Amino acid sequence: MRGNVVVIGAGQAGLTAAVTLRERGWSGEIHLIGEEAEDPYQRPPLSKGYLHGSESRSDLLLRSPDALARDGILFHRGSQAISIDRKACVVTLDSGVALKYEALILATGSQPRQLTLPGSELAGIHSVRTIADCDELRADLANGGDTVFIGGGFLNLEVAIEAKRYGAVTVLEMAPQILGRVLSREAANVLAEYHEGLGIRISCGAEIVGLTDSHEGADSAPRRVTGVQLSDGSVIQAERVVVAIGAEPRDELAQSTGIEVSGGIVVNSSLRTSDERIFAIGDCARFPSVHAGAKMRVESVQNATDQARFVAAQLTGTASDRYDDVPWFWSTQGERRLQIAGIAHPSDEARVTLAEEGGKLVVERIRDGEVVAVETINAPGPHMRARRALAISEATVA
Ligand code: FAD
Repeated sequence: MRGNVVVIGAGQAGLTAAVTLRERGWSGEIHLIGEEAEDPYQRPPLSKGYLHGSESRSDLLLRSPDALARDGILFHRGSQAISIDRKACVVTLDSGVALKYEALILATGSQPRQLTLPGSELAGIHSVRTIADCDELRADLANGGDTVFIGGGFLNLEVAIEAKRYGAVTVLEMAPQILGRVLSREAANVLAEYHEGLGIRISCGAEIVGLTDSHEGADSAPRRVTGVQLSDGSVIQAERVVVAIGAEPRDELAQSTGIEVSGGIVVNSSLRTSDERIFAIGDCARFPSVHAGAKMRVESVQNATDQARFVAAQLTGTASDRYDDVPWFWSTQGERRLQIAGIAHPSDEARVTLAEEGGKLVVERIRDGEVVAVETINAPGPHMRARRALAISEATVA
């Protein structure tokens, strides 16, 4: 349990890995490298309480620099890891500092997929990934006016509720239903009805052809978006546009060093990359999920923290050789708290086992006669029971 560990990425996964290693008795140096000019922070409030103003900047903080120093974790804030020499086991930072490692953990996260439509470069187009993104959007929302959302996923639907305080809101989704990849039609419909009840317009099957702008103002001023144009020629006017059309893994550093990358940094069931001294965890890692029966990336706090703890346990010699924690996820949509335990495929059957006034809902997802996931709205008890049941059934399989 000696030697240097270098962790690249100081988000939820990287921070948890560094702290857990120390808690589990790793006695060598632990370096945590974060390119953002921020102390380690959590992202979920950026589309919820922090955007709304009910949570402050300090509520986002995962660990203060003082606490990291007390744990003997060497935090390189605002430093980007720019190369990995796998032969020499050295990571080089943009400052020129070179760090030798015994083990390297890649926790580089993901980034919003960019829109490629005509007009994508205009001012007034937002995405929410960082504190800076959120501060920018919050300031823009305060100017009032209508907002159009491109993408009907969890993130946009959360932000849409906040935007409704300032003007009309339209959510445009290309697919026939919102949340189609991740949720049953039954649960998605309940959430869509809730949003529509708040006055949010949801338009599915939307074909967007471009973004419009005004030609007014000084030539030097950046041109600003004024609306979203659909394939039928209509334009939905907007003061701003918020885009959330999925995230892409930050796997460029891994790729540049010759580690296997394919839709994320490819790892085995122990979360090791094709170089056995190098692990990848969190949003950037593509791992074999026993729960999904497929290789996949998962973007959730649970996945980031559980994978971090698993790797810390591996390095301190106490983990099994297979990461198989039950995946779970939550999203707060106004007064509706959605929770998902397990992973369903869009083709899995959906069975509603509870549907009550006020939005309480439980939907079981079934594959080959087995419950593989449970979706709940405002039903924390069934969610917790599902997590336990899914863990037990996996243990039985193993
Ligand atoms: P990240 O948090 O992205 O951290 C990776 C870090 O690595 C970043 O800071 C990046 O800048 C840095 N980095 C990348 N490359 C380098 C390099 N070469 N050198 C140095 N640093 C580097 N999940 C839920 O379960 N529930 C929710 O309600 C929820 N809400 C969310 C709301 C928002 C707005 C967002 C953006 C995400 C939300 N998520 C939610 C998802 C969850 O926050 C992520 O899955 C989680 O943060 C992933 O953690 P990570 O450490 O893998 O990646």
